[in-house]
Amino acid sequence: KTETADVIVIGAGGAGLAAAIAANQSGATVIVLEKMPRAGGNTIISGAAYNAVDPSRQIPLGIEDSVDLHFTQTYEGGDKVGDPALVRTMVENAYPALQWMESLGMEFTPTVFTVLGGLWPRAHKPVKPLGTGYIDTDLEYINSHSSQITLLLETEATELITKNGRVTGVKAKGLSTDYVFNANKAVVIATGGFGANIELRDRFNSMWPALTNIKTTNHPGATGDGLVMAEAVGANLVGMEYIQLLPMGDPDTGSLSGNIEQNVENRIFVNKSGNRFVDEGARRDVMTKGLFEQQDAFMWVILDRHSYPNPDVKNNFNETIAELIAQGRAYGANSLDDLARQIGVNAENLKAAVADFNRAVETGGPDRFGRTLFQDKIDTPPFYAGAREPTVHHTMGGIQINTRAQAIDKKGNVIPGLYAAGEVTGGIHGSNRLGGNALADIHVFGRIAGTNAAAEK
Ligand code: ADP
Repeated sequence: KTETADVIVIGAGGAGLAAAIAANQSGATVIVLEKMPRAGGNTIISGAAYNAVDPSRQIPLGIEDSVDLHFTQTYEGGDKVGDPALVRTMVENAYPALQWMESLGMEFTPTVFTVLGGLWPRAHKPVKPLGTGYIDTDLEYINSHSSQITLLLETEATELITKNGRVTGVKAKGLSTDYVFNANKAVVIATGGFGANIELRDRFNSMWPALTNIKTTNHPGATGDGLVMAEAVGANLVGMEYIQLLPMGDPDTGSLSGNIEQNVENRIFVNKSGNRFVDEGARRDVMTKGLFEQQDAFMWVILDRHSYPNPDVKNNFNETIAELIAQGRAYGANSLDDLARQIGVNAENLKAAVADFNRAVETGGPDRFGRTLFQDKIDTPPFYAGAREPTVHHTMGGIQINTRAQAIDKKGNVIPGLYAAGEVTGGIHGSNRLGGNALADIHVFGRIAGTNAAAEK
C-alpha cells in the first residue's frame, strides 16, 4: 500500500509528535509512524522534568539563572564533547518551546526544582504524572487536526527510500500490510534511543562495566532502529559510546518507579554497610560510577518526614509512601536504629552518615564528598529507606544533526530530505546528559525539525 504526505515522521514520542505538530502548523500534511501499540515512547514514562531558564518562575523563588549558565552547565556537564552550536540552540529555545507546549494546552506547576543530576533549579514539573501531560497534549492536537495528521500505530518503519541522494520516503510494516510512504517534502526520524537494545549497548559501551545484565528504565521499543536506518543512507553517528545510567533503578525491574526521592536536596545514599559514598547532587555519571564501586552496586535512598509530611504524599510516580511500604518496596521507621534493623545495615554507620550530613546542612557545605545541595536535615521521623541499583536510562549518541535538525552524512554534508530529532540524535548532551535536558532537547529540536521539514521544496 502506498500513501503520501508532505512530511513523514518516524516515531510518536515527544520529539516525533512535536515535529508533526510544528510541521502541520507550517501548513504540511503529516503521517506519523509508530511501531508500538501506543504513542509516547520513553517520553511518556520519563520523569518528565523540563529544564528552561524561566524568570517568571525562578525570580519569585530567588533563583539566579541565565541562558549562559544553562549553556555552560550543559556543555561542561557533558565534558565539552557536545556540539556547542546545538547546545546553544537547545538552551536558547528551551523556554520558547515550553511556551509553545503551553499554547497547545500543556500544564506545568508554578514552581521549578532541581532534578536528579540536573545541577540547578530550572526543572519544570508537569501537572500530570510522568510524561503523560506532553503526550496527551500532542495527541489532542493531532486528534483535532485529523484531516491533516495521521498517526498509524503498530506500523514499523524498516527502511528509508532514497532517490538521487535525497530521502523521499519510508518503507514500513503494519500488522498485516506492507507500506510505502512517500514524502513530498521530507522525512523526520524521531525513533528515540537504544537503551533497550542489549546488543547495541554492548557493542558501543566503553564507559561502564559490562551492561549485559543491567536493567533499563526504557520502554521495549527503544531499540535504536532509526540509527540503523539512517546509517544505511550515509548518516554520521556521533557519541555512541556515551550511555547514561541512573543510580535510581528499581532492583527488580530497572524502572524509576518506586523511587522515594522527592527533593534531591533532602536525601542521602548509603551502601549496604550504611555509609555514604558520593556527592548525591553530582552529575548522573559520577553518582552511578560511585554506586558501581559499592558492594553489589546496591544502595539505599534515605530521607525523612520532610519529603513525606504525611503517608499519603505521592512520589513522582504517583505512588504514596504508605503504598510502597505495604508492597515491601520501601521501609519506614520512627528511629534510625529501627530503620537500620529493617534494611539490614549497620545502625552506628547509618546514624553517623546522617549526623555527618546534618552537620553539612548546617554549614552549607561543601561536605567531604563535595556536596553543596542542601535544604533540610534528616532529623524528623518517620525515616524512610528505598533500595536502588544502576539502570540504563538514556543514550547520548546518535545521528549527527545541524542546528536546523538536518541529518549530516559522514563527509559533513546535509542529507537532503532527512531530519532527525530527539534521543535518536547525538552531539547535544556530550558524554553526560543533565537531568531535565531531554525534554527540552526533544521539544526544541522536534519543533525545529518539523518546521524546517515543512518548508522544504
Ligand atoms: P524521543 O524522546 O526522542 O521522542 P521516545 O522514546 O519518546 O523518543 O519516542 C520514540 C518513539 O519511536 C517510540 O514510541 C518508539 O516506539 C518509536 N519507534 C522506534 N523505532 C521505530 C520504528 N522502526 N518505526 C516506528 N516507530 C518507531
